[in-house]
Amino acid sequence: MQTHTSHRIVIVGGGAGGLELATQLGRRLARRGKAHVTLVDRNATHIWKPMLHEVAAGSLDPYIHQVQYAAQARWNAFHFEQGDFVGIDRAARTIRLAPLVFSDSGEDIALLPEREIAYDTLVLAIGSTTNFFNVEGAEQHALALDTVADAERFRRLLISALVRAPAQAEGNARPLVRVAIIGAGATGVELAAELRTTASELRDFGVHKLDPWQDVTITVIEGNPRILPALPERVSVATARLLSELGVSMITGDPVAKVEESVIRTQGGQYIPTDLTVWTAGIKGPAVLGTLDGLEVTRGNQIAVHQTLQSKSDPNIFAFGDCAACPWPAIGRNVPPRAQAAHQQATFLAKALPRHIAGGSLPIFQYRDLGSLISIGQVTAVGNLMGGGAGKSVFLEGFLARMMYVSLYRMHVVALTGVTHALLDALAQRLRKTSVPRIKLH
Ligand SMILES: Cc1cc2nc3c(=O)[nH]c(=O)nc-3n(C[C@H](O)[C@H](O)[C@H](O)COP(=O)(O)OP(=O)(O)OC[C@H]3O[C@@H](n4cnc5c(N)ncnc54)[C@H](O)[C@@H]3O)c2cc1C
Repeated sequence: MQTHTSHRIVIVGGGAGGLELATQLGRRLARRGKAHVTLVDRNATHIWKPMLHEVAAGSLDPYIHQVQYAAQARWNAFHFEQGDFVGIDRAARTIRLAPLVFSDSGEDIALLPEREIAYDTLVLAIGSTTNFFNVEGAEQHALALDTVADAERFRRLLISALVRAPAQAEGNARPLVRVAIIGAGATGVELAAELRTTASELRDFGVHKLDPWQDVTITVIEGNPRILPALPERVSVATARLLSELGVSMITGDPVAKVEESVIRTQGGQYIPTDLTVWTAGIKGPAVLGTLDGLEVTRGNQIAVHQTLQSKSDPNIFAFGDCAACPWPAIGRNVPPRAQAAHQQATFLAKALPRHIAGGSLPIFQYRDLGSLISIGQVTAVGNLMGGGAGKSVFLEGFLARMMYVSLYRMHVVALTGVTHALLDALAQRLRKTSVPRIKLH
């Protein structure tokens, strides 16, 4: 256990929110000796989760865009500890990490034993996992998109399905690869749009021999009456038009009843044959949150927090991002599980926590909905931006919308590395694109 010299802030989860917070607190507090900041994550590297559908489609290489926690920690004066967070002892103010294991050719090699880390202030930012809503067969037969490993698995399965299809076609039947995406929120829709380009690019490079438009079918299935049910109708209508132009089929208003290995059955009796099924229909808090020494969680297994982001059960434990249920009184709901919310809350806590450890009163977090942008492939996007006065939103579509969509990620990079590095990084990515295929080919 570390020696206790100054206030110990432990942040668990280095995702869209947690890594920004650790970086800001490292610079503001740890560098000046005002606190000891530790970030814990189960992985050694960070990737911004909203890019996972691009990883799944092969249009983004996670190894190029990843941030190495150890390097980020060294450059920003915080400490990084790799491990799977499995428990809290609130009285002793310690968290518990599972043994760190390295798997090599199916063999597990123990690197570190179970450990405890002491804290004075604990911040939980461990994100969310896929919610299959107990739909029969969904967990067994549908792929989730929670991690880089999930996204890479989907990408490899897609390529192998495309390559194998001609050999598997029966008799004179056309070879077919049928992809079904269950859930037409932002993730499902963005993945569907990316996949059409993926199929075409892989064909252009000779990876497979199918007709990318005729032989690769992409179907999005949504239980609500329209795709993107959480967004304004105009955004939903424009997105549906763009998806149709990309040859994506949409089934709406018919919830999925059962997922089998190669077929999806809906409550309305539809029967959708599939070779690859992806589930993007909802999220919930990770299971560990329900086991944390009496910390109150909601039905969706998120930590119940006040608007200060302090947990309702313990003022020294904060939670934010997808893993927290934070009230949004203006709308009468909780703050939505989105990267922009995690970013705003990280910025808020970077200012609030120094006050907290100095014994001052805490401010109240006010979520500002800046609107939503949905990327449709690599050149266009659709969405609404707030700011039209009296809570009105402005509709956007096209290249400008796509640029604004990309700027969300750029803001994350700025928060991690500063403006100069973020600009150089953007330039480096652009230059790199001139010498590599747009899609990962293997
Ligand atoms: C494909 C996709 C597209 C999306 N697109 C958008 C978008 O366009 N706009 C938008 O606003 N939002 C989008 N989102 C949602 C957005 O990604 C999340 O809201 C955001 O990442 C939440 O940030 P977070 O910090 O709470 O959690 P995350 O970014 O998920 O980070 C959680 C971190 O905790 C770590 N962790 C988890 N469990 C443990 C554990 N037990 N022990 C140790 N570490 C742990 C993980 O490794 C991870 O690093 C998208 C999500 C997906 C999947």
